[in-house]
Amino acid sequence: MISYGQQHIDKKDIKAVIRALKSDSLTIGPLISDFESKISELIKADCFVVSSGTAALHCAYAAIDLQPGDEVITTPITFVSTASTAMHFGAKIVFCDIDPRTGNMNPDLVESLISDKTKAITVVDFAGHPADLLEFRRIADKFGLFLIEDAAHSFGSKYRNIPVGSIADLTIFSFFPTKNITTAEGGAVSSTNLGLLDKARKFGRQGLVRDKDKFINQPDGPWHQEVHHIGLNYRLPDVLCSLGISQIAKIDKFKSRRNEIFNFYQESLSNISLLKLPTVEKYAEPFWHLYPVRVKNNQRNALHRFLWSCDIRAQVNYVPVYHHPVFKNLGYKSIFCPEAEDFYQEELSLPIHLGLSSKDLDLIVKKLVLFAGNTN
Ligand SMILES: *Cc1c(COP(=O)(O)O)cnc(C)c1O
Repeated sequence: MISYGQQHIDKKDIKAVIRALKSDSLTIGPLISDFESKISELIKADCFVVSSGTAALHCAYAAIDLQPGDEVITTPITFVSTASTAMHFGAKIVFCDIDPRTGNMNPDLVESLISDKTKAITVVDFAGHPADLLEFRRIADKFGLFLIEDAAHSFGSKYRNIPVGSIADLTIFSFFPTKNITTAEGGAVSSTNLGLLDKARKFGRQGLVRDKDKFINQPDGPWHQEVHHIGLNYRLPDVLCSLGISQIAKIDKFKSRRNEIFNFYQESLSNISLLKLPTVEKYAEPFWHLYPVRVKNNQRNALHRFLWSCDIRAQVNYVPVYHHPVFKNLGYKSIFCPEAEDFYQEELSLPIHLGLSSKDLDLIVKKLVLFAGNTN
């Protein structure tokens, strides 16, 4: 069976985790800040790690003081957490249609959706290809909005040679097993704005304040700590940080292999007119998380079925978020982003990960050629 995405764990990873298990701290030990420094070095921004990408999004929205009635503009072509974590604060999600070239939110369509209630724009770097970040940055600055980047797909990608993670006000990452590196469950929040990052971090650390200079109450002793704003426990334990440290050391290898697979598909599938292959914008240097093709002539479902019958697990990313019943129940019935709908009808993510052999890749291409030949 060939999966569409999976983790790559080697002996070094296993050794690192065993070492962490035998150490004094399973959590709140030295490996948390070690992992955070390694991430910061890569993305050129400060960061803290959390227990998932969803937790990271929740912390980011907490940091901007999202309030009931505030509006957040985001794309429907994403995982539901991008929107649902904002809704936990009572925010209203306003969906902006995508640019069909990248599957990312279209900056040309954002301004018309901005109201006096808009607080943030949340972009998603679909498949690992960065959104047009400086264009979104310009719009956010013009209207005094926060720019949040859901970079769950794009850890290690660059935009105009700038690492993803240092451009938006807050960027979030996920280290779920299918993502670019993994800690099983895990994620991170990054920012170059230390005040904002500190607010996000406190939310993910139960709201605890341990800095004496910030105390409001008179400390009774060295055990003193206090809470100024309520938070949650979103820590990533040392045991999982050990895996993250080991994984991030291999990020260049991961990136070049995934991009090699991307290039292999680009060349091998270029003659199949049934498929529309992904393109790369001038500003983007992606770390490809997905290989998303569009299947023409209404053949996506049939191709998906065919590949699964060959034990090739292609995936569809994503059902537009407002299709979820929870949104329909909230009155989103008439929401319709035409480009996102077309994208959803045609999108298919082919397998891309370190576990694929060249034999696997040849087989996938052979099956695609076969299917395309039969549908002509
Ligand atoms: C994976 C993912 C998330 C959520 O990350 P988890 O670690 O699974 O909570 C959020 N947004 C996008 C775009 C994702 O792909």
